[in-house]
Amino acid sequence: MAKLQAIKCPDCGSPLSFTDDQEFCYCSHCGSQIYKEDVHYDKKMEYKLKKLEMEDKQDKRDSVLLAIAAITPFLILLALIIGRILA
Ligand SMILES: [Zn+2]
Repeated sequence: MAKLQAIKCPDCGSPLSFTDDQEFCYCSHCGSQIYKEDVHYDKKMEYKLKKLEMEDKQDKRDSVLLAIAAITPFLILLALIIGRILA
């Protein structure tokens, strides 16, 4: 007898019901075609996504620092010019 598996749609989080003989099913909520293998590796994917998200945040932080580092000489130059004008 086919066993039902309680799985959540990776796209919208709606509960899906797979039977053992199904390769894929359609999400009744968002209509996504979800392969059982994809959901099987969901935990792994979640971890991967979280890691990517963290790397992304790190990247953003790095680019902010880079931007600050890039404009700092101009700010100093500007300060010098303003200082000269005021002097
Ligand atoms: Zn869905």
